[in-house]
Amino acid sequence: MSRVAGKGGDSVTATAPQEVMAPVVGRLAIIGVGLIGGSLALALRRGAAVGEVIGCGRRRESLERAVALGVIDRWYEEPAEAVAEADMVAVCVPLRAMRSIFTQIVPALAPGAVVTDVGSAKGSVIADAAAVCGEVPTWLVPGHPIAGTEHSGVEAAFAELYERRRVVLTPLPETAAAATAQVTAMWQAAGARVVEMSPEHHDEVLAATSHLPHALAYALVDSLARWDDHREIFELAAGGFRDFTRIASSDPEMWRDISAANRTQLVAALRRYQDDLARLTAALEAGEDEQVLAVYRHARDERARFLKILEGRA
Ligand code: NAP
Repeated sequence: MSRVAGKGGDSVTATAPQEVMAPVVGRLAIIGVGLIGGSLALALRRGAAVGEVIGCGRRRESLERAVALGVIDRWYEEPAEAVAEADMVAVCVPLRAMRSIFTQIVPALAPGAVVTDVGSAKGSVIADAAAVCGEVPTWLVPGHPIAGTEHSGVEAAFAELYERRRVVLTPLPETAAAATAQVTAMWQAAGARVVEMSPEHHDEVLAATSHLPHALAYALVDSLARWDDHREIFELAAGGFRDFTRIASSDPEMWRDISAANRTQLVAALRRYQDDLARLTAALEAGEDEQVLAVYRHARDERARFLKILEGRA
């Protein structure tokens, strides 16, 4: 079926001869079939936007589970074998594994293949690829889906994860425009909205909006758990505490990697936050309750504005 313009500019539905639309991606290799890679595969498969999905990972059990769950069609243990016939390669492993994966796949890439990644920090991934290739490769389109949950592994993957969520791509001057267009089309087929920015800007913004909140959630639970009466504290904790600390259930190793990969920006964000906390503490200590109120009011109003922006995007 296709839409054609009718009389007076109306659009009417017409039946076209059976045309078979080519999938957006022919053969996709996913290195690291966990929450993020698995969800990408499921989203593309749901929309028939991919011809075949080849998986690759560390553990056979995970890959066998991924086949059983309908996430991938088949798998290889060796990254080089997985990418050899792929048109598109999505590297979805933890940040600490990126360089080793690039080392293994670069000599095996098919001519014309496009590679993207999903790492939560972009400067470090680009540095890893450049270290392996000797220069920033034209076929690499660095990316980061701004979507996720506190759960890990292929069992946690679901097809709707990227619906109406943003995916940031950080192509460089060296990046082939056609490669960026292909990766953009893939994420759009998965339901996402694609935005582009520089890797530096990405790392600065994500330090504030994602890496800082994770560090704070971990630090808060860690701190309270070391108080003498922590059992009672946790027993009396209500919904607010649960909301604030949900992301402290995320994979600690993954967040160690992200914190290390974006160390400079995260330290700057933490120091800035510490300054503001020190001001709040001082105001409280000095009995400047109006100053405390001003902070709380400002935060509530800004959060309301932020929620409106989110609703507008839905
Ligand atoms: P995950 O669920 O733990 O999945 C990671 C996958 O990578 C697993 O399948 C794992 O295999 C595989 N893997 C780990 N080390 C490997 C290695 N050395 N070689 C090959 N495969 C390896 O993690 P995730 O949440 O999908 O995160 C993956 C990437 O997405 C990370 O770079 C992260 O920064 C980024 N990211 C995460 C989120 C989020 O909210 N979780 C959001 C955006 C971006 P096994 O199953 O065998 O262990």
